[in-house]
Amino acid sequence: MKRRELIKAGVVAGVAGALTAQAQQAQANQPPILTRARNLIFFAYDGMGWEDYAIAQFYARRVLGKPMALERFLSTGINGLQNTNSLTSFVTESSAASNAWSTGVKTVNGGLAIHVDGRKLTPIFALAKQQGKAVGLVTTSTVTHATPAGFIVSNPDRNAEEQIAEQYLEFGAEVYLGGGQRFFDPAVRRDRKDLYAEYAAKGYAIARTPAEMEAANASKLLGVFSTSHVPYEVDRRFQNVNVPSLAAMTRKALPILAGKREGFVLQVESARIDHANHLNDAAAAMWDILAADEALEVVMNFVDQNPDTLLIIGSDHVCGAPALYGAGSVYRAGSVGIDLLKNEKGSIEFMLGRLGSQPTVEGVTELYRSVKGTALSPEQAQAVVAAITQRVFLPDTVVRGIQPANTLSWVMRQTDAAQVNRPNIGWNSGQHTAGPTLFGVYGRGVNSARIGLIDNTFNFTLMTRALGIRFQNPVMSEQEALEVLRSRAEVPWNHPDDTLALA
Ligand SMILES: [Zn+2]
Repeated sequence: MKRRELIKAGVVAGVAGALTAQAQQAQANQPPILTRARNLIFFAYDGMGWEDYAIAQFYARRVLGKPMALERFLSTGINGLQNTNSLTSFVTESSAASNAWSTGVKTVNGGLAIHVDGRKLTPIFALAKQQGKAVGLVTTSTVTHATPAGFIVSNPDRNAEEQIAEQYLEFGAEVYLGGGQRFFDPAVRRDRKDLYAEYAAKGYAIARTPAEMEAANASKLLGVFSTSHVPYEVDRRFQNVNVPSLAAMTRKALPILAGKREGFVLQVESARIDHANHLNDAAAAMWDILAADEALEVVMNFVDQNPDTLLIIGSDHVCGAPALYGAGSVYRAGSVGIDLLKNEKGSIEFMLGRLGSQPTVEGVTELYRSVKGTALSPEQAQAVVAAITQRVFLPDTVVRGIQPANTLSWVMRQTDAAQVNRPNIGWNSGQHTAGPTLFGVYGRGVNSARIGLIDNTFNFTLMTRALGIRFQNPVMSEQEALEVLRSRAEVPWNHPDDTLALA
């Protein structure tokens, strides 16, 4: 094979060539799909690493008394690992990861289904729609966020969510469920457009509460349940926040989509594991994984009853890389930290919202006791006050994160040396990392011998083969992308370091 052809096949490139040439070629030549699938469900865990899984799994077994559906998946499905690097960075973010899944080619971090030189890519759900399939997006982030958006629209800026909300209307998927009212609401949108009215005019039922969602009976449904992202499961569950669970949204979406004669494609995303890890919030990440597990159970049951459905699961990248550390003599107290997680009845996001901009030591102490069930020392409470009011952050070893959340997390994690009195879970950062992630396939018609370590772009090969689609998006080399980046004084979709957001 000539070098030009190798580049076209995505084999040659520094960062992009993370898989060996032979492995990629073997995957390309020997498709693992044996039979066509009528329906496709892509189940995404945003920002989940193996330690996240371990923490939730131990909690499920030890505290909740039942194993996770994901554990059943890993025991009975076909599993592997996926490399997550983007075109020019070993560390991806959610849009480049979504693009790799949905278009089969590597892109530069920041844009949706688009190359950095402006060449648009065609994402998988757009191809499926051309086949006449129904399309659904279900997520706990804003519904217009990168991971779902990258499956249906092209946009150079993943943060252009007002515009993406209009692109969604034009695309016309049957189901959009998640957060992000502010991108649809005429009272909040900068252009004052009433997207609710425009969606309703095109036949969508509009839901802003769980009750409205359950009552909706149109053939198309737009459900947005919070101003921004859907609040964390730990807050929904213990702080009476009135939003639907990921499982409830998934249960609502499936029968709407399954009514289409040509079949459907659906992305279900547990989006906020990533956000919880950015904020170094163990309880929020764990409960969102457990909520995802209920949704996973819903889709696994659907696949069991509808075997012409292919289910693919995957995590787009690791975030924060939390770890459950050993404790006690020769780690004999290593399980105790898991038990302590059951005291946590709210997220750091929830606590910061309650504390406001001028908290007191007493207020911090009292809120912490009511949400976490244990005491903070006066020094710890003072450190939280200083982080919020004076922007004095702890510890100074944390590699860039999201403050003051990371300080609150760090203060919360300081254990009494004599006993384990905090979950012994730690972070060194609030950023994404480079490691390989979860990948799995559930359903008939997949040749397990062809699955092992894959590149994240291989998900596109799987999906197109399963749906009987023949399509190749244009490939860009890492070198070409770097030249485009170098030629620009400004890269609009890159956040400057000092405005790190939940990305
Ligand atoms: Zn992230």
